[in-house]
Amino acid sequence: MIWNETIECMEREEMRKLQGIRLKRVVEHAYYNTPFYRRKMQEEGLSPDDIESIDDITKLPFTVKQDLRDTYPFGLMAVPMSEIVRLHASSGTTGKPVVVGYTRKDLSIWSEAVARCLYAVGLTRNDAVQVSYGYGLFTGGLGLHGGVEKIGGTVIPMSSGNTQKQIQLMHDFGAKALACTPSYALYLGETIKESGIPREEFQLKTGIFGAEPWTESMRREIEESLGIKAYDIYGLTEIIGPGVGSECECQKGTHLWEDHFFPEIIDPKTLLPVAPGEPGELVFTTLTKEGMPMIRYRTRDLTALHHEKCGCGRTAVRMDRILGRSDDMLIIRGVNVFPSQVEAVILGLPEFEPHYLIVVDRVNNTDTFQIQVEVRPDYYSDEINKVMALKKKITMQMQSVIGIQPEIKIVEPRSIERSMGKAQHVIDNRKLV
Ligand code: ADP
Ligand code: ZN
Repeated sequence: MIWNETIECMEREEMRKLQGIRLKRVVEHAYYNTPFYRRKMQEEGLSPDDIESIDDITKLPFTVKQDLRDTYPFGLMAVPMSEIVRLHASSGTTGKPVVVGYTRKDLSIWSEAVARCLYAVGLTRNDAVQVSYGYGLFTGGLGLHGGVEKIGGTVIPMSSGNTQKQIQLMHDFGAKALACTPSYALYLGETIKESGIPREEFQLKTGIFGAEPWTESMRREIEESLGIKAYDIYGLTEIIGPGVGSECECQKGTHLWEDHFFPEIIDPKTLLPVAPGEPGELVFTTLTKEGMPMIRYRTRDLTALHHEKCGCGRTAVRMDRILGRSDDMLIIRGVNVFPSQVEAVILGLPEFEPHYLIVVDRVNNTDTFQIQVEVRPDYYSDEINKVMALKKKITMQMQSVIGIQPEIKIVEPRSIERSMGKAQHVIDNRKLV
């Protein structure tokens, strides 16, 4: 199912032409209506006339999160506030929130983008979608909501929290799809199992999960636990919210809606584009947004892009799973560690629950690196030898994947906090500023 076949399956050359026309327009809009962008371009000796095609994008200066903070709250708006019909703010995972504003047209671009995502995972007007992302300033809830209405589906606007009621209504209303963070999906799966309601009584078939990094093994875990197909949806507040792209039924990468959100991958050190297919930092330019256009916004998300046509027929560029944000990367005893690597090891071992907490500290000038895990009831034992063997197994695997040895702490069942939104997997007690 393809929502906008003309765009999603457009020949690459034609797409680049369209992107070029739109880039020129958005650069003019930003330059003449936002002092911030005008000043930055002038500093580089650039004017909108220097932009002729999409290839010229590399001439433009980058925008970073700090720029949004420095211009807080409305300094990057490119239209009068009377044109802004909605405000959102990021959840502030990494500091002070940033504020974004949408015109009426921006909201319709957003729901168009989410509509494409929903069709890509096989949902239509016949389906009820339970939206269990938080509603409010966070873009998750209202973002998905707009898309479900756009395709004419039935939206169940649950928001997050109240887990028992989530399950009851999912059951009673016959939700076909669930949209939430992968962490919350895991938690819902666990709670359904405990509720004793037979899984066959649910009509749930499809999961639309995102807003935080998750691994392939986490996908399998969720698919198994809820008896569904689980798809990745990606987005960020600064660019529009959820729905910048999503997987299709092939589950071979996340298609990005590049007629609206132009992606580039750069080397975060040299700031130069990487070779096609190589990993690096994802950068977006909004090609159509009116309220708060973003020019070459550095997301800090690490991934790679692939331009070959997909098995689903779409030509829209595909992005690999996000490895993590560069800000999420821990440097422990000089070694780079991503929480996603730790997750992949834990989920690969049947003995452990798919929940974990990484605790890092510095004692006597040495980094300590502890990973807390829960053992599944089937594997639980009072025998010290068995516990030691389990610890040894996971320690060795971590060592071989990460390159350093963690201290494994086996904690009581259910003692690692379950998340209803974005999970917190790391506590870093080092004061490293
Ligand atoms: P905050 O920056 O406060 O978390 P957002 O809700 O805008 O606010 O979060 C956007 C970020 O969430 C992205 O830049 C990315 O790091 C992460 N994210 C969103 N969707 C996904 C996904 N599908 N996979 C991995 N990370 C994701
Ligand atoms: Zn596809």
